[in-house]
Amino acid sequence: MRLSRDYGPEAVAKMGGCTVMVAVRRGLLRPKVVIGLHCLPGLDGLRVTDGSLFVGAGVTLRALERSTEVASALPVLWRTVRTVASPLVRNMATLVGNVTSALPDSDLVPLLAVLGATLTVRGPEGERSLPVGEVSQAPYRHALAPGELATAIAIPAPPPGLRLAYARFTLREAFDRPLAAAAVALRLADGVCHEARVALVGAGPLPARSGAAEAALQGQPLTPEALARASEAAMESAAPPSDYRASADYRRHLVGVVLRRALGEALAS
Ligand SMILES: Cc1cc2nc3c(=O)[nH]c(=O)nc-3n(C[C@H](O)[C@H](O)[C@H](O)COP(=O)(O)OP(=O)(O)OC[C@H]3O[C@@H](n4cnc5c(N)ncnc54)[C@H](O)[C@@H]3O)c2cc1C
Repeated sequence: MRLSRDYGPEAVAKMGGCTVMVAVRRGLLRPKVVIGLHCLPGLDGLRVTDGSLFVGAGVTLRALERSTEVASALPVLWRTVRTVASPLVRNMATLVGNVTSALPDSDLVPLLAVLGATLTVRGPEGERSLPVGEVSQAPYRHALAPGELATAIAIPAPPPGLRLAYARFTLREAFDRPLAAAAVALRLADGVCHEARVALVGAGPLPARSGAAEAALQGQPLTPEALARASEAAMESAAPPSDYRASADYRRHLVGVVLRRALGEALAS
């Protein structure tokens, strides 16, 4: 914290370095000082307590993937972690670092957002908690103040009966980032949706909840027609970016596809 305060914008903090060092190598970041957070003690805690998950800032994606406790408490998170990059990258990349990277196409932020996960942040003013969905301010810019350190992510235990699913679309089957993805959490009673949380990748500059899709599901019997209406609503309200990987129109189409897949999987689970 002191180094970060002393050097201000001339310093960059790194944990696994998978986002930071790629940016340095590409010349997008030119820090005078790189602060190695991985040396800090006490950040590698990984605990499952009554279904809720505590993931310290030093915990790598590989450690999550290797945890049988995580696999049984939150299989959807465990499966999704295994789709990120390659084992080599997952050996270094941390879950907290994925969130603080503010990636436009993070696989993990949308899932953590529908799970109601929070990031614990410690700074000169003390400790605070931020919903994971509010950590990214803009692509590659997080909401932490200079001198603040993220110490952990807390994921509450999903209530019994919550149906969770995640679907992603990539151009290549392995080692590719999603052009579009959908995370859903549904609570149903007698076939009617009592609570819907939907977060999308590809519908805007950052992963975000889709209020339009959630409103289309809420209070509805989840018939195939209702699912189709929800994915239409998500597509209509999307403002996808256009870049060398995909046009905005193609991404909009994919948002509908992945949401239909995720809703179908959640209902079948
Ligand atoms: C080849 C490759 C493929 C990838 N594919 C995918 C993919 O398919 N899906 C996906 O979701 N992601 C993917 N990623 C992204 C990867 O998951 C992230 O780069 C990684 O999780 C970041 O974690 P890190 O510990 O390396 O963070 P770092 O690179 O060390 O840090 C990232 C950012 O967070 C800040 N930071 C890190 N830790 C803290 C902390 N404790 N407190 C405060 N600030 C902190 C840093 O200052 C920096 O701004 C890929 C990355 C690579 C290199």
